[in-house]
Amino acid sequence: MTSYDVIIIGAGSVGVPTAMAMAQSGLNVLVLDRFASPGQGSNKAAIGGIRATHSDPAKIRLCLRTLEVVSTWKETYGHDVEWTTGGYTFVAYREQEEITFKALLETQHRYGLNIAWYDRDDFLKIVPGLNRDGLIGGTFSPGDGHCSTLLFGHAMYEEAKRAGASFKFNEQVTKIEVSSGRVRGVKTDRNEYSSPIVLNASGPWAREVGQTVALEHPVQPDSHEGGITEPVAHFLDPMVVDVRPAPGSANYYFYQLSTGQVVFCITPSPSIWGFDRRETSSFLPMVARRMVDLMPRLGNIRVRRTWRGLYPMTPDGSPLVGWSEEVEGYLMAIGMCGQGFMLGAGLGELLARAATDNLTDDDRETLTILSPQRQFQGQEALK
Ligand SMILES: Cc1cc2nc3c(=O)[nH]c(=O)nc-3n(C[C@H](O)[C@H](O)[C@H](O)COP(=O)(O)OP(=O)(O)OC[C@H]3O[C@@H](n4cnc5c(N)ncnc54)[C@H](O)[C@@H]3O)c2cc1C
Repeated sequence: MTSYDVIIIGAGSVGVPTAMAMAQSGLNVLVLDRFASPGQGSNKAAIGGIRATHSDPAKIRLCLRTLEVVSTWKETYGHDVEWTTGGYTFVAYREQEEITFKALLETQHRYGLNIAWYDRDDFLKIVPGLNRDGLIGGTFSPGDGHCSTLLFGHAMYEEAKRAGASFKFNEQVTKIEVSSGRVRGVKTDRNEYSSPIVLNASGPWAREVGQTVALEHPVQPDSHEGGITEPVAHFLDPMVVDVRPAPGSANYYFYQLSTGQVVFCITPSPSIWGFDRRETSSFLPMVARRMVDLMPRLGNIRVRRTWRGLYPMTPDGSPLVGWSEEVEGYLMAIGMCGQGFMLGAGLGELLARAATDNLTDDDRETLTILSPQRQFQGQEALK
């Protein structure tokens, strides 16, 4: 049986950067994925937004690190991942959004984030073309941005292999092997591999993987749809997020890629639970109406394609990260909700430090906040 220092289940938004960070720290890593190539789970459905402007210190810290990695990627590794520092904006048309966004600024400033509130006229200079009717203003965080999900995922996959990580595709983990309360390796539909550490990074499928060690992880697949337009001349720098609920959707967000297309997605309301990844005919009319109402000039752009993917949701909208208390050597990085792509690179480095026993005090605080053993209270404000 082949032996490794760490086996990672899942070559997605989390598994790939973790393999890279672990291999770079000298660990002998095997990544197994049920699909034919990396990123075929939720990763390829993400639209590529990366922000540090959360309301929770753990996510802020991890995403600040991802921003550093992605924004310096080209000079460090040489691949262009279409990183653009366009910033994130949250628009406020109602007093309740104005109050929420302003209240969050205090925490965000405490963690060193560059974010500020802008009244209507100044905000319109940052996002020209917004519907002026009822617009109060909004927040803008210029250091956030976006990149190509596929290019960044693939670039990290190449670097993980260069650092020595092994990947095996079309191979599904059917069981995590445990004896005397400790992980021994995994069994797949083709083979067996041994390792003292197994990382569950299986995204929306995390619950079924956890069940093989008799644990019930509170992670549920929640389907979201995205779309992309034809390319047009550059007119928009930041991501635009509108958190006002409307029939069928809780919020939606969009931005213009450096290659000219506008990408967009919504959070359905009520949530649509389950593994169905077939796109629907109701998504586009619903989101198009909302986007054109917010920014009338979008009515002139043609949509090219829509798709549907899965958020691995947790009860409080925050990930579950850390060692199992029940099974020694079983590590979890699951329940990424709508933020696995932006958390991935920062999280991968933290998990590498966890596996090599090099945690910092900040890491310990992050792991306490994201502990899989925590009680779920409320929901993160900007989930
Ligand atoms: C429309 C849409 C837009 C989004 N936009 C953004 C965004 O802008 N920014 C952002 O940060 N996030 C975004 N997200 C969320 C993001 O896609 C997810 O949070 C993230 O991809 C989850 O990463 P993951 O590594 O946990 O799961 P995945 O990327 O799904 O990876 C899990 C992998 O595990 C594999 N696997 C599962 N079970 C097994 C098994 N038994 N054996 C072997 N392999 C297994 C799967 O095949 C899969 O490849 C978006 C999601 C959607 C749907």
